[in-house]
Amino acid sequence: MKHIHDFIIVGSGASGSVIAHELMLAGADVLMLEAGKRFSAGTFPDNELDANAQLMWNGGMDASKDASTLFIRGKVVGGGTIINQCLLDRFDDIAWDSWRSQSGIDFFNSQAMSSHYDSVESHLALHYMEKQDWNTNAELYVKVFEQKGYQWAPLRRGQSDCGKGNDCMTCLGGCPRGSKQSMLETFLPKAEKLGLRIQSETTVREIIHGPSFVTVYGYQQGRPVTLHARKVVLASGALGTTELLLRSQLHDILPALGRGFHCHPQWMTVGMFNATIDSHKGAFQAVKSDEPRFRAAGFKLENVFAGPIAIGLLKPGYGFEHQRFMKQYRNMACIEVAVRDQAPGTIRLNNRDRLEIDKPLSDIDRQKANNGNQLVADMFRDLGANEVMTSPLQIGLHLMGGCSIGQDERQSVVNERFQVHGLRNLYIADSSIFPNAPGINPSLTIMAISHKAAQNMLGDCGVTSAFKKQVPGVANV
Ligand SMILES: Cc1cc2nc3c(=O)[nH]c(=O)nc-3n(C[C@H](O)[C@H](O)[C@H](O)COP(=O)(O)OP(=O)(O)OC[C@H]3O[C@@H](n4cnc5c(N)ncnc54)[C@H](O)[C@@H]3O)c2cc1C
Repeated sequence: MKHIHDFIIVGSGASGSVIAHELMLAGADVLMLEAGKRFSAGTFPDNELDANAQLMWNGGMDASKDASTLFIRGKVVGGGTIINQCLLDRFDDIAWDSWRSQSGIDFFNSQAMSSHYDSVESHLALHYMEKQDWNTNAELYVKVFEQKGYQWAPLRRGQSDCGKGNDCMTCLGGCPRGSKQSMLETFLPKAEKLGLRIQSETTVREIIHGPSFVTVYGYQQGRPVTLHARKVVLASGALGTTELLLRSQLHDILPALGRGFHCHPQWMTVGMFNATIDSHKGAFQAVKSDEPRFRAAGFKLENVFAGPIAIGLLKPGYGFEHQRFMKQYRNMACIEVAVRDQAPGTIRLNNRDRLEIDKPLSDIDRQKANNGNQLVADMFRDLGANEVMTSPLQIGLHLMGGCSIGQDERQSVVNERFQVHGLRNLYIADSSIFPNAPGINPSLTIMAISHKAAQNMLGDCGVTSAFKKQVPGVANV
């Protein structure tokens, strides 16, 4: 006889892990499926090449249709939170107001979301980067901001104890110290203690929504698997969740599916100095722009750097010139421009059944990038750089949209209870539901929204918080 779980969650990143934890607290029977492998602090790859190959979809080389943008997303238990920098910011009123006006959803405001932020933050160790955390790259960043009269602020990062003298850039390939507050260090172990089962290396291909349960078809290490649950939560990220609904042939009933894709496109500029900068040493990100003029202009400037493979990829050309450039790795300072992109892209399956992401840059977004990049180039010249290189390659790390939330079924995919329109046993609360680009680090808000969504899911099963405390299981959902 087939087993029907209460919930199956597809994806173990920021959204899936928070939802799993909340459902487990209510005693539900939950199975989590994850395409990637499971690693731990002691087993993460120890170099950039292996980390790209083993922790990311397509080795971190998912490109847009016109090959102008590289999209990077985690494929590992813990999802994007394993390979991200864990900078955790709440949305400001500018972001909430634009979400509310685009989606028509009232709870998108700081007040209504604050208890959900409070709740997820209570599970995270949060650290404001202090002056003693700065490396030379951060010092240069602050120096030029102060010279020019721009506001900056310390970054808030999810980390417990990184210790002294550690080079945190390694964390982009999984934190070997168990300090970065990825899902593997926070929500997942707590949920597993409550009985969550995680099936890794299982890629879901299709779902079929029935009146009393949902069937999930996939492959575990190449072998077909068929599973059932009363309710299914898609938490596979903007590209993964959208792809799953497209593969499930749901575009006919969901006209907005695949639309509204955003990615905060980023450009890195390197300033070359005679002195040793060692931007890869210590905390490689410590400060951020906090300048209202930049927010109004639709971009932010990030104090950042990257490993040698990534820097090598960003520099155009080859041969002696490329070698000359890379030999100066220890002399590089770096600032990145991240644009709050207005023009949405589309996600679809092409005629070779492959995911195709169309994200051309609109004139207005290009102008924002040019303004930001020019500012950074001027900053490096003012600091005395003898060479400045802005990479032509755009990078998308914050992948958002494709299944946006809203009240209008023609313009959105998910309703305000986080159910897919017309399919009440199918829920989504991950980065795919973003109605537009907030211009702010997204993962803390993904967690907060997912916390809210999990409460709705339990409510839809008739589980109230009072009931949750008294009854250990929700087997009757
Ligand atoms: C290098 C980098 C740095 C970043 N830095 C920050 C930062 O500092 N702050 C911040 O807020 N954000 C940051 N981000 C973005 C952040 O990590 C993501 O926005 C966030 O993880 C998205 O959460 P999610 O739950 O929507 O999806 P994810 O966390 O991406 O999780 C989705 C999971 O679903 C799995 N999956 C996908 N398809 C399937 C399938 N068909 N079957 C089974 N499993 C599937 C994936 O393997 C993945 O594990 C960064 C991202 C990158 C790449």
